[in-house]
Amino acid sequence: MFLLGHSCWSYLFSKATGRKLNVNLPAYLALLSGILPDFDIYFQPYLVHHTYTHSLVVIIPIVLVMTYFFGRLGFAFSIGILSHLLGDFLVGTIPLLYPFYPNSDVGLNLGIPSLADTALEIGAFGLVLLYAYRNGDYKLVLKPTRDGLLLAIPLFALVTLTLLFAGDRSIPLAEFAFSRRALTIITLGHILQANHECRRFLCSTSRIMGGVTRRLNP
Ligand SMILES: [Zn+2]
Repeated sequence: MFLLGHSCWSYLFSKATGRKLNVNLPAYLALLSGILPDFDIYFQPYLVHHTYTHSLVVIIPIVLVMTYFFGRLGFAFSIGILSHLLGDFLVGTIPLLYPFYPNSDVGLNLGIPSLADTALEIGAFGLVLLYAYRNGDYKLVLKPTRDGLLLAIPLFALVTLTLLFAGDRSIPLAEFAFSRRALTIITLGHILQANHECRRFLCSTSRIMGGVTRRLNP
């Protein structure tokens, strides 16, 4: 699954978990949690992509530690991390017990890119827009909040990880992104999501800067 799907899935799963547990996980954390397992891309070649960070042997202790230290909020965040493994399990495979069993890959392998993957990613993106409208997160666009500013973090991760992943594999990104219809839709989804997060971030920045200027020049 691509980063678009991962961040949308984690938003949906972690927000829903937070809601059940009566905690409000900030939007930037909900979007970020699902792309954390792919942060191994930042550490290549020292950390091989899709190994330790996609294994329950590593993720389960992280879930326990997060929940121990941050309670319900930590648990909701962890569900976002786990949703990454579920997404990769559906469209590909995950090394469930790496490094103890390096060949323990399991998954439905629906294919990536594939129609199933595109439906899972774009469907989740649509649901995120609906959910954000219903739970009030869309207001981050309308008023300056710390959360709005912090959306820069998942946005930065989305862009840099995509560039690094393509760079490491010498993939000509623009060509690849539009090479198949399924990929074109995913690419457009990424652009829309990045644009959405960017607008929220810029809105918060400009309003906060405006407030500071007014205070300095009353
Ligand atoms: Zn992954």
